Amino acid sequence: MPPPHPHPTHHPRHTMTSHRPRTSTARDGTTYRQAVAQLKREGTNICWLCAQPIDMQLTEDNPQHPMAWTADHQTPLSQGGPPTIDNLREAHRTCNSRRGNRAPQHPPNNSRRW
Ligand SMILES: [Zn+2]
Repeated sequence: MPPPHPHPTHHPRHTMTSHRPRTSTARDGTTYRQAVAQLKREGTNICWLCAQPIDMQLTEDNPQHPMAWTADHQTPLSQGGPPTIDNLREAHRTCNSRRGNRAPQHPPNNSRRW
């Protein structure tokens, strides 16, 4: 039976509150990303601008493709739109950017038949 330590353990009275529970969560960004992910997962995957289905496989392969899936804001965040799924619409990347440019012209590539 080993004897107990002869020296009394040194108790440093430092109670450093290093892990204080942080209650301030970064709402912006987190919520928005979650909303986008939810829309992508549970949405209709139909472009709200041209009413054509969006190829999700294409989006997986090449998110930068003009016909890839993007989330469009109904009300821009800069104009007070909430970062929630209610303010998001699914759109092709090209449709989204076309709308962003506010160019009310017909799409140049109209030969594709659906
Ligand atoms: Zn579209």
